[in-house]
Amino acid sequence: MAQEDVFKKIVSHCKEYGYVFPSSDIYDGLGAVYDYGQMGVELKNNIKKYWWDSMVLLHDNIVGIDSAIFMHPTIWKASGHVDAFNDPLIDNKDSKKRYRADVLIEDQLAKYDDKIKKEVEKAHKKFGDSFDEAEYRSTNGRVIEHQTKRDALHQRYAKALNENNLDELRQIIIDEEIVCPISGTKNWTEVRQFNLMFSTEMGSTSDGAMKVFLRPETAQGIFVNYLNVQKTGRMKIPFGIAQIGKAFRNEIVARQFIFRMREFEQMEMQYFVRPGEELTWFNTWKEQRLKWHKALGLGDAKYRFHDHDKLAHYANAATDIEFEMPFGFKEVEGIHSRTNFDLSQHEKFSGKNIKYFDPELNESYTPYVIETSIGVDRMFLSVMCASYCEETLEGGETRVVLKLPAALAPVKLGVLPLVKKDGLPEKAREIINELKFHFNCQYDEKDSIGKRYRRQDAIGTPYCVTVDHQTLEDNCVTIRHRDTMKQERVAISDLNSIIADKVSITSLLKTLI
Ligand code: ATP
Repeated sequence: MAQEDVFKKIVSHCKEYGYVFPSSDIYDGLGAVYDYGQMGVELKNNIKKYWWDSMVLLHDNIVGIDSAIFMHPTIWKASGHVDAFNDPLIDNKDSKKRYRADVLIEDQLAKYDDKIKKEVEKAHKKFGDSFDEAEYRSTNGRVIEHQTKRDALHQRYAKALNENNLDELRQIIIDEEIVCPISGTKNWTEVRQFNLMFSTEMGSTSDGAMKVFLRPETAQGIFVNYLNVQKTGRMKIPFGIAQIGKAFRNEIVARQFIFRMREFEQMEMQYFVRPGEELTWFNTWKEQRLKWHKALGLGDAKYRFHDHDKLAHYANAATDIEFEMPFGFKEVEGIHSRTNFDLSQHEKFSGKNIKYFDPELNESYTPYVIETSIGVDRMFLSVMCASYCEETLEGGETRVVLKLPAALAPVKLGVLPLVKKDGLPEKAREIINELKFHFNCQYDEKDSIGKRYRRQDAIGTPYCVTVDHQTLEDNCVTIRHRDTMKQERVAISDLNSIIADKVSITSLLKTLI
């Protein structure tokens, strides 16, 4: 099945099973805004808990905060967002569709990568085990041709970005003959900068209201609180502050479901370090964050680092952790070395001294910052994409199963009485009443057992137990495992010890140490 179709299926599966709904659905939705349903909110909360605990529980020098969405407007002047939080936009005159110029070019780069990958895969198949990929890449004419074109494009693109050369970005689009996917034409407008911040008005004084912004990132709430936290928490450098919260960006193009939203959630951690030590910490955090992702078992080959072609105005090193979505490798998390830019700017604009006194060095300085910034929604999407699976079973029957990591699954155990009578529902309720303090259980008595298994498969429940007449005599149930569909008879009194550990975030966290 084409990856595009797989993605469409994932989107409709999310809606059908209560994971994600278009926002304002009965009013036909609102562009790039989504609501999480009864299943989605559980998965999202589990992702957030996994992240939060990995930061705040596992590190005694990282603490959390929850800062307000509205902040003093000067903060966004100081941070550079008012002047420079822009994306280059370009319109196609025929379709009237708007695109990000940088994304059009990056998609073109991905096309070259794809061509190279296909050549290599073809050769691998042909030559089998004796295939030497490095040798092939450096000698095959077609691969070399694609690679040379790709490298030249990459170099030209990076230069244009770094010089903020909008005309050159447009020229690249023309020269590469990039067409609008809707109209198929090359009838492009000029490239213009577009500021992504939403604004609104606060208060009503006789002089008029104050213009305030909806924060486009949670990080600034951490920067302006860093000294409050350092002093009240008696934190010593290096230390970190973590935060989970909403962010808002008026994205130019928002067509990929929850990948690019106008209202989304970030999980950010700023790690304050001594000047000069930032690149060592940058590498440490790169490693730690990749380990966090891989521990979920979605497949190590689905991740890669992608260093930024253009460093943001505040950074001296930056990389993305990309995940292989059905529409290609895409950024899920950014790791940035933000220097002391933000703190210095806030010192300048607020006029307050926010330097840190280092008792070991006996000197004051403005700390440097390493930031790890991950979108909850993109993480959610990557988990969904990697977990969605259509299987053909023995006998030709098919099932759709969400092979979610057990620790993230919204429901951990489905409890199913074989029939709706003879005391079986009561026994099933008894089991739930015992286990619900430990993990999320769902009761279901409607339809055949087979249909109920399919429903639990579709929402990703890792375990189901069936209560039958025998249960009333021997206090045992049949437990069924989602992925293998294997069934075994176990004592009700053993259920907690069989399941709790496997579905707990604690066991996931233990793999990180
Ligand atoms: P992109 O290049 O895709 O626009 P970005 O580099 O601007 O993303 P950052 O500013 O580094 O993103 O934000 C950190 C993280 O926040 C991203 O890795 C992503 O997971 C998430 N994020 C950013 N913008 C959005 C959005 N519009 N919708 C959902 N998540 C987002």
